[in-house]
Order: sequence, then C-alpha cells, then structure tokens
Amino acid sequence: MDFPICSGCNRNIEDEECIQACDKDWHRSCFKCSLCQQQMIGTFFEKDGLVFCAKDYWKEFGELCHNCHEIISGPVMVAGDHKFHPECFKCDNCNSYIGDGESFALVERSRLY
Ligand SMILES: [Zn+2]
Ligand SMILES: [Zn+2]
Ligand SMILES: [Zn+2]
Repeated sequence: MDFPICSGCNRNIEDEECIQACDKDWHRSCFKCSLCQQQMIGTFFEKDGLVFCAKDYWKEFGELCHNCHEIISGPVMVAGDHKFHPECFKCDNCNSYIGDGESFALVERSRLY
C-alpha cells in the first residue's frame, strides 16, 4: 500500500492527518512556515516552493501603503510607483475615494487629485 511521502520529513504519512498543499503532501505537524517554523494554522501562502504563514508572507512580500505605511494584505491600488490600500486611495483635496476605473491624475508623483 502506498502512503504519501511528507515533504517536510520525507517519511510516509501513515496515520497522521495528511495535508495537501503546493502539490505536495505533508504531515500536519510538518507543515510549517519556512520562516518562523510555526505550525500552519488557517491561511498559508506559497512562493517559490516555500510556504509561509500569512504574517511572514506579508512581512516578506507585502506592499506598504504609501499613505498609512501599513502592509497591504488585500487588494492593492497602484498609482505610478506608489501602492495604496483601496481605503487610503483617495483625493488629497476632497478626501473622496477614488474607485477603480475612475480617472485621477498624479501630481508630483505622490499627491492624488
Ligand atoms: Zn512529516
Ligand atoms: Zn511564519
Ligand atoms: Zn493605507
């Protein structure tokens, strides 16, 4: 009988719960963030064959919002070289939100009008 091989410890996964992620099989206890080595609970992210917990993924690969300088972990609005939270992406003058598809102009590359 064929048991799947755990990509973490290279042993058969016999009785333990098997996790399938990134086209590989893992023991539940071997499925860890490749940075902090914490066992993965809930959301995980994959990049270049490595798995990361959400916290480390955004720390490593997340984009900083140009407005509030917090990491953007959801949809990103891009304006020129700058990235924004959708809720931070608004006109400096009137503070109204600039939605997708609406026209806006970049003045001095960082101010939105
Ligand atoms: Zn294992
Ligand atoms: Zn981690
Ligand atoms: Zn922001």
